[in-house]
Amino acid sequence: EAAAGGIRLVRYDASLERRLTQRATVAAELRRALANGEFHLLYQPIVELPHGRMTGVESLIRWTRPDGRTVPPTEFIPVAEDTGLIVELGAWIIDAVCAQAAAWQRRHGPDALTSIAVNVSARQLVDPALPDIVAAALARHRVPAHRLTIEITETAVFGGGRALATVTALAQLGVSIALDDFGTGHSSLGLLRTCPVNAIKVDKSFVDGLGGTPQQEAIVTALTGIAETMGLRTVAEGVETADQARRLFELGYRHAQGFLFARPLPPAAIDALLAQPHPA
Ligand code: C2E
Ligand code: CA
Ligand code: CA
Ligand code: CA
Repeated sequence: EAAAGGIRLVRYDASLERRLTQRATVAAELRRALANGEFHLLYQPIVELPHGRMTGVESLIRWTRPDGRTVPPTEFIPVAEDTGLIVELGAWIIDAVCAQAAAWQRRHGPDALTSIAVNVSARQLVDPALPDIVAAALARHRVPAHRLTIEITETAVFGGGRALATVTALAQLGVSIALDDFGTGHSSLGLLRTCPVNAIKVDKSFVDGLGGTPQQEAIVTALTGIAETMGLRTVAEGVETADQARRLFELGYRHAQGFLFARPLPPAAIDALLAQPHPA
C-alpha cells in the first residue's frame, strides 16, 4: 500500500474481492428469499429436569432454497447482520414467532408453554424501532408479553449504549430477557448488574466440561448459584447425554435444552408434544 498523489494504491487482493462478491451475492439472495417465503422456523423444546417435560421452546430459523438445499443460520445470519438485512428478517421472525405462539395458545390453552424464545442479534438491538416492532407483533397476535423471551448475547450489549437502552425498553414491555451463550463473553457477570436480565442460558461448552476437572464443574455450579441468588432462571444448553442431564440436576439445574431431549422441530411436532397428557 502506498500513497501516490493522494490516491491510495492498495495491493490487489483477489481473495478479498471474492469474499466481498460472495457477501453481496448472499445478501441479494437473502432479500429474494425473504420475498419468496423461503424462511421458516423450527422450535426446540426447553425442558424441566429431571423428567424432561417441555415448558418452553426456542425458535431457530431455517432457509430452504428453491433447489431444496437447507442453509444453516450460522452461514446466513452473519451476512444478514453485516448487510443490515437482519432488521427486516428479524421483524419477520418476531412476527412469525408471535403468530405461532398465538396458534399454540388457541389450541392448547394459554399456559401450555411458559415461554417462547426468539433470538435477536446485535444489529437489531441498535435499532431504536425494535421495542415497537416487538410490541406491535405481540398486540397483533394477542400474545401476553411475559410469554415471549428475547435471547440476546452478551457481546451485543457489552459496552452499553443504544443496545442497552433497547434491552431496557424491551424489558419494560414485560418480555423476558435471556442472556444467550452465557459465560463465553468477556463480561458475563458484569452484565448481570447493568442489563435487565430474567434468565441465563449456560453455554454448551460448560455442559461439555461436566465430568471433566473439578474446576469445570465448579464453574457450572457457580453459574446457577449466582443466577438463583439473583432470582434468574437458568437453562443449560446443548445437553446431549443422560449423564450430563443427571449431573446438571445434581448441581442444581432445573431447565435444559439439547439433542438428548429434542432436536429443533417443526411446529406440528410441538403440537403433538403439547397434546400429550402430562405426567402428574
Ligand atoms: P443459539 O442461539 O445458541 O442456538 C442454539 C444452537 O445449538 C442451535 O443451532 C441448535 O440447533 C443447536 N443445538 C441445540 N441443542 C444442541 C445439542 O444438544 N448439541 C449440539 N451440538 N447443538 C445443539 P442452529 O439452529 O444451527 O442455530 C445456530 C445459531 O444461529 C444460534 O445459536 C443463533 O445464534 C443463530 N440463530 C438461529 N436462529 C436465529 C434467529 O431466528 N435469529 C437470529 N438473530 N439468530 C438465529
Ligand atoms: Ca439462542
Ligand atoms: Ca445459545
Ligand atoms: Ca450459540
